[in-house]
Amino acid sequence: MEEIFGKNGLIAKYHKDYEYRFGQIKMAEAVLRAFEEKKHLIVEAGTGTGKTLAYLVPAIAAALGQKKRIIISTGTKNLQEQLMEKDIPFLQRIMPKKFTAAYMKGRSNYACLYRIGKAESQPILDGLDEMDYFDEIRHWARESPTGDRAELTTMPENLSFWGRINAKSETCLGQKCPDFEPCFITRMRGRADEADIVIVNHHLFFADLNLRGNEYGRVIPDYSAVIFDEAHLIEDIAADYFGFQVSTFQIDELVRDSENLPITDAIVTRDLTKLAARIIGLADQFWTRFIQGRGQDGRFPLLPNAFAQKVRDEIQPTPLGEAYFALDSALERLENAIDVHAEKMTEAESLVRRVRQTRFDLDFVCSQAEKNYVYWIEKRGRGMFLRASPIDVSTLLQEKLFDKLETVVMTSATLSSNGKFDFIKDRLGLDNSKTDTMLAPSSFDYQKQAIIYLPKAMPEPRAPEFNQIAASEIIKLLNVTNGRAFVLSTSLSSMNALYELVSMRVNFPCLVQGSMSKAGILGRFRTTPNAVLFATSSFWQGVDVQGEQLS
Ligand code: SF4
Repeated sequence: MEEIFGKNGLIAKYHKDYEYRFGQIKMAEAVLRAFEEKKHLIVEAGTGTGKTLAYLVPAIAAALGQKKRIIISTGTKNLQEQLMEKDIPFLQRIMPKKFTAAYMKGRSNYACLYRIGKAESQPILDGLDEMDYFDEIRHWARESPTGDRAELTTMPENLSFWGRINAKSETCLGQKCPDFEPCFITRMRGRADEADIVIVNHHLFFADLNLRGNEYGRVIPDYSAVIFDEAHLIEDIAADYFGFQVSTFQIDELVRDSENLPITDAIVTRDLTKLAARIIGLADQFWTRFIQGRGQDGRFPLLPNAFAQKVRDEIQPTPLGEAYFALDSALERLENAIDVHAEKMTEAESLVRRVRQTRFDLDFVCSQAEKNYVYWIEKRGRGMFLRASPIDVSTLLQEKLFDKLETVVMTSATLSSNGKFDFIKDRLGLDNSKTDTMLAPSSFDYQKQAIIYLPKAMPEPRAPEFNQIAASEIIKLLNVTNGRAFVLSTSLSSMNALYELVSMRVNFPCLVQGSMSKAGILGRFRTTPNAVLFATSSFWQGVDVQGEQLS
């Protein structure tokens, strides 16, 4: 590692701003040792340690030495892109041995060539703006090497029709697709199959881990070890993927896709349209019965007697329970009606599978029978999500991950409590005898280089006046820092509200997440003097802005 990270090492030779950092070289040695000794490792690496290179270099050495693929899993897509665009090409230039790397994101990030072709003849667009965007996407998809929408840097993130032309698995025809060969997903998998290092994000990693072993198989190619960056996030993300979820969007899509099946028989089509309308009505009655947090975004617990309760010694459905039974029986009719066509029609086959899965998930959440799960409803904008998540993921992670792999490295700036790692080991199901730990010190002097400012007398974040008061505080701070700041929120609605309130009252260029791709907006921020960026969780961690721009 000295040869790479040392004062006269390869990085110092090729990187003009490189500073020798004791914590970085110690971390790199610990990661290499974990690979050699086939152990798991937890490293808390404070901000400024240079942890990305400290895990990438030993990972590459181990992948080449042991001829095994290693997965790097990041907390956000931003960090994934940063690794792929900056750190990996840099190491490919300087490392003594050649290595290959590829990245994989969730399927909905990629364009579906088949659906784009179909969309040309089916009306999916609202308004002229969308037609222009669609035209641009159509041309881009012909040329793009990856089909990853992050390449569309100037396009808004919330394109309403993207959901109808992306490569999500629910609508994929698989090998029966006429565009299977040039398909971006086929090509992405091909690149990953050939790579020594594959960069994914935690969402994709746990979606894949949950699929391994069941009938739909794996997404990520087989690997021998994994490194989690921003590892403090993995418990929650694993719980989401080992859990169950049904959303308003999911049911809307089932209905829409059932109406778009290429069925030519007019009577069957008419019956399906009638059934679809009935499901929309019943779903509406079902969702509107959730009164928790009416009118507010957030997560709200489902009470144990939400769907059924005891009346005079008898268990009887509540009005919500009755709404659920009515919706489920309509979904069952839809499942049966489509199943008739499944043998001859790939679209029908995959739709039946989705309806069945939705009914299963809905039943799991509504029956609330599993005591080890927590049940709740989440409201976000126009969407509602019914969820059940395991309270404790340690056993699942132990079985599916830590017992299966020789080495799992977990790193983040915040993993220990009181200088110890017992809590995280316990929560994740790590065996003490097989897990090493390390605290890599930050190279920042927090006393001199950081300030925490807590405004006095702020109201509760849910109070109606919160955004107004927060905006006034933010404006004062921006005038001190001369812009050059991120304003980070926990929800899109508060981000938008703060952007509206602040951008009108300051003279700094204000950017807001969603107006273009994340990479595009970060690029704009880096090159716009005194810019202010309003964003949410994707920009909370792992974002690299060097120099004065964010200071
Ligand atoms: S294989 Fe699936 S994702 Fe790929 S182009 Fe065909 S339908 Fe779209």
